[in-house]
Amino acid sequence: MVIDRVALVSFRNYGELSASFCDGVNVITGRNAQGKTNLIEAVFYIASGRSFRARSDRELVRFGDTRASIRADITSGGRAQCLEAFLEYGRRRRLIANGAPLRSAAELSGKLSAVLFCPGDLDIVRDGAAGRRRLMDTCLCQLRPRYAAALREFNRLYDHKTAILRNHGEKPRLLDALDDFNVRLAQCSAQLIWFRAAFTATLAEKAAAVHREFSGGVEELQISYKTVSTITDARRGPEELLTAILEHQRAHRQAEIDSGQCLTGAHKDDLEIGINGAAARAYASQGQARTAALSLKLAEREIHFDDRGEYPVLLLDDVLSELDAERAGFVLNKIKNGQVLITCCEYDGAAASAEGTVVRVEGGEIVR
Ligand code: ATP
Ligand code: MG
Repeated sequence: MVIDRVALVSFRNYGELSASFCDGVNVITGRNAQGKTNLIEAVFYIASGRSFRARSDRELVRFGDTRASIRADITSGGRAQCLEAFLEYGRRRRLIANGAPLRSAAELSGKLSAVLFCPGDLDIVRDGAAGRRRLMDTCLCQLRPRYAAALREFNRLYDHKTAILRNHGEKPRLLDALDDFNVRLAQCSAQLIWFRAAFTATLAEKAAAVHREFSGGVEELQISYKTVSTITDARRGPEELLTAILEHQRAHRQAEIDSGQCLTGAHKDDLEIGINGAAARAYASQGQARTAALSLKLAEREIHFDDRGEYPVLLLDDVLSELDAERAGFVLNKIKNGQVLITCCEYDGAAASAEGTVVRVEGGEIVR
């Protein structure tokens, strides 16, 4: 998949912009606060129907204006396509693909896939498990509609069960429904765990290969999937997983009621990450943790390719700081195949060594 051109009207700090991109590495450089991330945000929005940092679409409309639009001319599935988004104060936003209105952002799925990496993701290795679960969920939801459906159902049941556990003190009758929720939640967990285990096995292999090259052959990345403790082999079929989850649930039933917390299920899953045999969360240096985080994203892109036969567009926002020259050089010049849009500040020296197309953004305009 390739974005050939993006046209923006009144999006963030852009008045009118038309930017063309090559099918390879595109470096977007410039001083702080000029519009580099805004451009990445526009591309991500047209790919997914949402921003990765705005709380509401209103934030995306240029100050002083009441409407904004994004248009992307892309090549996907071997043919030229056009995606458009129209945002307007007080009205529902409109998404259009090849001239036809879409009913929801879900219909954008598969038209332009993007893998995003922004500064918040840099700590995915050292922060809590939520970010690592999000990584699994984001990728699996894009590739497996059945996983996305199971995750929606899981979240719905989890909210209900948590409400039961929190409020049964005042309303003891709530506990009548607990066992029913337990069984349904365990069934959903079994499905999620089954998908996640297979996904992690592939992710581990691909991320290790990327990380090895990224670190100049000196670091080995290990990733393993951690789930409900009664599951001895998460690659077993969903039936065996269900039996093990129910067993864990039975053992923790009273503890759940006493603590008011849901203690069994896929919501506690994690990825354990090691570098050269040491737990990365505790021992990785800043640069090592960032390298590992980037390796995970690059592996995610390979998984997309194996599944769909096309690379998703890779969006890298501000990821070069804290990488040494060799590792920054890897990001800029060694990511082969597929399109990459990467932002960096012009003074960090990285842009100078880039072999791809370099564009410079200044005050919401592209000055080459
Ligand atoms: P940095 O190198 O610091 O990350 P950047 O080039 O990535 O900078 P952006 O995040 O793209 O900067 O933001 C550029 C400018 O856009 C900021 O000064 C911001 O205040 C401005 N901006 C954000 N939203 C709007 C909006 N709705 N209307 C006008 N300007 C906006
Ligand atoms: Mg930025």
